[in-house]
Amino acid sequence: MLHAVTRRNLKIYAMQQFDTVIIGGGPGGLACAAALANKGAKVLLLERKRRLGAKVCAGGVTWSGLGAKLPPELIERSFASQKISSSWQTATLHARIPIISTVNRMNLGRHMAEKALAAGVTIQSGVTVREIHDRHLTTSGGAFGYGTLVGADGSSSLVRRYLRIPSERMGIGINCQVDATFAEMEWCLDSKRFGCGYAWIFPHRESTSIGAYVDRRAMNASTLLERFLGWCAHRGLDIRGCRPRASLINYDFRGYRFGNLFLVGDAAGLASGLTGEGIYPAILSGETIAELIADPAADTGKLDRLIHRQRHHHRFLTRVGKNRLCSLLCSEAILLGLRTGLIPLHALEMGAEQPAPPQPQPHRHRQQGPAR
Ligand SMILES: Cc1cc2nc3c(=O)[nH]c(=O)nc-3n(C[C@H](O)[C@H](O)[C@H](O)COP(=O)(O)OP(=O)(O)OC[C@H]3O[C@@H](n4cnc5c(N)ncnc54)[C@H](O)[C@@H]3O)c2cc1C
Repeated sequence: MLHAVTRRNLKIYAMQQFDTVIIGGGPGGLACAAALANKGAKVLLLERKRRLGAKVCAGGVTWSGLGAKLPPELIERSFASQKISSSWQTATLHARIPIISTVNRMNLGRHMAEKALAAGVTIQSGVTVREIHDRHLTTSGGAFGYGTLVGADGSSSLVRRYLRIPSERMGIGINCQVDATFAEMEWCLDSKRFGCGYAWIFPHRESTSIGAYVDRRAMNASTLLERFLGWCAHRGLDIRGCRPRASLINYDFRGYRFGNLFLVGDAAGLASGLTGEGIYPAILSGETIAELIADPAADTGKLDRLIHRQRHHHRFLTRVGKNRLCSLLCSEAILLGLRTGLIPLHALEMGAEQPAPPQPQPHRHRQQGPAR
C-alpha cells in the first residue's frame, strides 16, 4: 500500500504543472487561453479534436457582438438585410450597417489558435481529458497539474459533470453545409414545424449553412431531422450530398466560478436558448474568466449583462413554448414587432451592448453555486 501511494505521488510530482489548464479549444477556451497567457500565466489548452475549429455550426455572428471586431478576411459574407418569414407574414428588414455576418469556424479556430500560440499558450490537440482530480487531470496524452482549471469543453462538458451541475435546458441544432451560394440571409419561423425554433439559410462565400434549431423540450433530434427535411423539400432546397449534422447547445446557466474551477461558453450554459447564438457568449465569457483568474475582483459587468439578456431569452422561451398556439402567435407577434420597429432586432442578439440590469449581480466576487 505504502509502495503504491509513493509511486502515485511520484507520478503527480513528475507531471507538468501549469498555472491554468483549459479543456476545450473552441472560441471560449481559445479566448480565455490567449487572454491569460498575455497576462504572463503558464497556460495549457487541451483539445480532443486534431484540428482546432471544427464544429457543427452555422457560423452566424452579429455585427454588434463580434463581426465588427474580427479581421475582415475572416468574414465570409455580411448582410445588412434579413429576410424573415413566418406562417402568415414575410418581411425583409434593412439596416445601414451589417446585421449579421458569417464566419467559417475552421478559419476562426485557426485565427484564434494563432493568437493564443503567439501569446505563449501551450496547445495540445488530439488529446482527450479523461478524468479530473483535485489539482491534476489525466488525459489520453498523460497527466497534467493545474492551479486553476477552466472547462471550455462545450455542451457535454466533463468539468460541468465533475462539478455535478446538471444540464437540463438544451437546444438542438442541425446543420447542412451545402456547396451552393444564396443571395439572401433568411430566417423561417415556421411554428408548425419548429415550435419556438426556426430554420435558417446563412450564406457563406462558397457554401451555405442550411439548418434548424429547436428547444430540446419541444422535440428530439430525430423529429427535428424529419421536420427539417420536410421544410427543405417544401422550400425546394437541394441538400442531397450533404450529411445533416446535429449537436446540442447548452443554455442552462448556473454559474461560472466554483473555487479554482471555472466554466466558459456552452460548458457554462451561456448560449441563448431562444436563438442558439453561442460564439459571442463563449468568447466574452472566456475573456472575462481570464480577467477573473488574474484578479478575483475584476469587473465582470459585461458578462453579467450578457447573462441578464440570456435569462430574458430563457424566460421568454419558457412562456411562449408552452403549446403550439402560443408558439404560432408568438412568432407572428415577433415578426410584426420587428417589421414595425416595436421590437428592435438587437433584443434577439446576445452581443448587442446592453443596458445595465436593474440589480447588481450579488455573486460577482463570490463563488457561484448551482442554485438558481
Ligand atoms: C447546428 C448549430 C448551429 C449553430 N450556429 C451558431 C451560429 O450561427 N452562431 C452562434 O453564435 N452560435 C451558433 N451555434 C452555437 C455555437 O456553435 C456554440 O455556442 C459555440 O461553439 C460554443 O463555444 P465553446 O467554446 O463554448 O464550445 P465549443 O465550440 O463546443 O468547443 C468545445 C471544445 O471542447 C472540446 N472538448 C470537449 N470535451 C473535451 C475533452 N474531454 N477533452 C478535450 N477537449 C474536449 C471539443 O472537442 C470542442 O472543440 C450553433 C450550434 C449548432 C449545434
